[in-house]
Amino acid sequence: MAIPLSIFKCIECNEEYDIQQIRYRCNCNDLLEVIHDLNTAIPQPDKWKHSLDDRLDETAFHRYQDILFPSLQEEKIISLKEGDTPLYNVSHAFPAFGSLKLKHEGMNPTLSFKDRGMVAGVSWANHLGCEIVICASTGDTSAAMANYAGAAPNMRGIVLLPFGKISSEQLSQSIVSGALTIGIETDFDGCMKLVQELTEKHN
Ligand SMILES: [Zn+2]
Repeated sequence: MAIPLSIFKCIECNEEYDIQQIRYRCNCNDLLEVIHDLNTAIPQPDKWKHSLDDRLDETAFHRYQDILFPSLQEEKIISLKEGDTPLYNVSHAFPAFGSLKLKHEGMNPTLSFKDRGMVAGVSWANHLGCEIVICASTGDTSAAMANYAGAAPNMRGIVLLPFGKISSEQLSQSIVSGALTIGIETDFDGCMKLVQELTEKHN
């Protein structure tokens, strides 16, 4: 496989890690950022920018993949046609702002902007050959992860939710898409702690 154009980099100590690792945090325990080598991915930025106009029939993620996640192979992408949500001009209602438009992110496939990140996350998990993905959520993330995992060829989602604190719309999306959906008598932080323990134990 070609050398990846992306690395993990710690937001605190700047330590770098191979992105092919299944890794959740830096050794210093702080968060990791994904950094792409855009100079290599997009050697001719002006040409790339102009080419976007000819690719409007592709999904937003495919169009912008060179800038969003250049290390991802095309055939590993799990897209539900997220993005390209409508813009509504509401300038007339807020004259003090001049030109004002609202982007309706509820028009994404699972009804939230979380789909924009999930296409990258689940596609990369697909690239790594992960058969299980897991998240803690208060609703939108679980709906997105469960749907994208359900669309992948060999993947199942596990969703940990604070019991009784999720809307039926969000809960039904997770269940219908085939994710193992577990309500736990705790809050989001409690669910997240469990996710961290489970992923550490089972990698
Ligand atoms: Zn660090």
